[in-house]
Amino acid sequence: MQKIAIIGGGIIGITLANYLDTTKYDITLFDEGKGQATKASAGIISPWLSKRRNKRWYRLAKDGAAFLQKLATDMNLSQEIYAKNGTILLRSKGLADLANLAEQRKKDAPEIGDIELLSSYQTASKLPLLAPQESLYVSGGARLNGLLYLEYMKKLAVQKQVNFINEKAVLKRKNDHWQISTQNHQISADNVIITAGPNCKPLLEPLGYQVDLRPQKGQLIVFNTAQTESYQWPVAMLDNEADLIPANKGQIIIGATHEDEAQWDLQPTKEAFERLTENSKNVFTVP
Ligand SMILES: Cc1cc2nc3c(=O)[nH]c(=O)nc-3n(C[C@H](O)[C@H](O)[C@H](O)COP(=O)(O)OP(=O)(O)OC[C@H]3O[C@@H](n4cnc5c(N)ncnc54)[C@H](O)[C@@H]3O)c2cc1C
Repeated sequence: MQKIAIIGGGIIGITLANYLDTTKYDITLFDEGKGQATKASAGIISPWLSKRRNKRWYRLAKDGAAFLQKLATDMNLSQEIYAKNGTILLRSKGLADLANLAEQRKKDAPEIGDIELLSSYQTASKLPLLAPQESLYVSGGARLNGLLYLEYMKKLAVQKQVNFINEKAVLKRKNDHWQISTQNHQISADNVIITAGPNCKPLLEPLGYQVDLRPQKGQLIVFNTAQTESYQWPVAMLDNEADLIPANKGQIIIGATHEDEAQWDLQPTKEAFERLTENSKNVFTVP
């Protein structure tokens, strides 16, 4: 049986491990877990009206959003893990133009779903934490709880006989195979799939590959409310860096920051807290 090693157990690695056929391949997934984006992510799946102008990014993100709808069905994800409650987009001006852009993009991204300009009243009734304001709603937007997703997908993978090694891996080429070593294990593999996020760089550079990947730090504010119906609310994408993500059991998430200079610094900062608070305070019913 062919041996495959996957290095990195975030959303990419664990999803791949579940789609590979374990009757044909012997799969080992290595995951250090340190600095992992998936378990910390805000989980907004709504790329269609992003302000980013990079067309290749858009194609990748759009195809990813379409795939996620299939994935939710294939893996039978619960509403707690994957909630397709739509997205509300807030803009101080230009909502009608945004609605036109959504209609255009829907032609090759039908996953965007229904597109609707909402009155102030309709906005507040869809997401009661929001102060009344007009908005654009797209029904295809979703939220993925990264931590619950990983836990669930790991259980499925274990049932399929995927092996897990929760240690940092180092990769070497030995004759016709790959050698993957950790502090306590060493295995050889016919094929290696690297899904290690920005750590692809230190894994691949010793083998002579050049990798242009850098970490980006993201910080969130998480707080609890008594709003138990939050699990069915849409995500609100604000007109700045902050977004408002209703999660399960009254939990609300604000964020994330996008910090290119912070490298692997995982400490929360006062500056990020203040910026996210400032960027979001005017959209709430209670400041
Ligand atoms: C705060 C925050 C908010 C975000 N919000 C959103 C959002 O709303 N919407 C969205 O689409 N995206 C969001 N993202 C981005 C998204 O989470 C990431 O793009 C995605 O999770 C990346 O998944 P991945 O599997 O590529 O990498 P990761 O989840 O980072 O997983 C890589 C794994 O590889 C492991 N690893 C690395 N090197 C090694 C090694 N040598 N040996 C063993 N293991 C190794 C790491 O420890 C890690 O566990 C957010 C990210 C953050 C941090």
